Amino acid sequence: MDAELDKGGAVSEGVAATASFAIPIRPRPATGEALAGYVARAMLANGYVPPLPLGRWFPRYRSIRESLALLGLDITMTDSPMSWLPTRQRFIAAQDMAPADLNGLRLRWCPYCLAVDGIHRAAWGIKLFAVCPTHRVMLVDCCPDCGRPVQFVWIGVGRCPCGGRLADALATRADDALVWLGYFLENALSNQRNETPACFAIMNTVDWLRLIRYLGSFAADNRPKRPGQLANAHDMAVAGPIFKRCAAVLEDWPRGLHKLLHILRERPDETSLPRGFRQIYWALYQNLAGQQFNFLRLALEEFLSEH
Ligand SMILES: [Zn+2]
Ligand SMILES: [Zn+2]
Repeated sequence: MDAELDKGGAVSEGVAATASFAIPIRPRPATGEALAGYVARAMLANGYVPPLPLGRWFPRYRSIRESLALLGLDITMTDSPMSWLPTRQRFIAAQDMAPADLNGLRLRWCPYCLAVDGIHRAAWGIKLFAVCPTHRVMLVDCCPDCGRPVQFVWIGVGRCPCGGRLADALATRADDALVWLGYFLENALSNQRNETPACFAIMNTVDWLRLIRYLGSFAADNRPKRPGQLANAHDMAVAGPIFKRCAAVLEDWPRGLHKLLHILRERPDETSLPRGFRQIYWALYQNLAGQQFNFLRLALEEFLSEH
């Protein structure tokens, strides 16, 4: 866990530093639970009132282990590969994910999961994770009552500041390709890749996020000048389409990619090398360099030899 220590350590007064602070009630963390959600749940169980100042609980201490110990929580209870926590806009991230991969601005959830146990999954905190494979729905990030996005500090509360119940939000159905992509990413997160097809199983979480980011740039109606831009991906309205486009490319592998290559190549207004084709070529050979992505180039070469 040492690689996951917060390098912050800025000095300011936080709840954890006050003498009167105590949390006698210590719920057990659930499998796959977001660390931030777990801490919030523990605080609420002890009578602390939302919104909870997540970033201020651990201001003085260099490590998450020390900070949690101060709260009376044992890190071994939360020692999950999927645990992270935003502290003062910094993240303690697992599996080499970068702060930019994680969503500390806006809460995202599956209403069906929340209705079952009220637990916030760590995977929901990844900007490019957009589906609940269990319930086959897209995740949501807006309140069912006021329609507003819910801020991250409301994690663990189960409600929007307006009082709306997050579990009441309507989620749109996700098709098979989306559900599979969700499973593959979840498997990588939990290091259980035996259910992932062999050509994909070599990728770790960070590889998957890179793949989604770049492949998710391309579609018939989306031909970016600069693929891989991640602006505003904390917003489901942005992340959802990226995730969907990547799922379409991976669908029925390698047919999904071949379908996309057909579309990108057969632009009636272009003659030799359409921009979209040039750019996916660049994405596959430059942005997604590395042997874990060899399967992409093999599929591209297969397409080129057939057409
Ligand atoms: Zn769910
Ligand atoms: Zn609301």
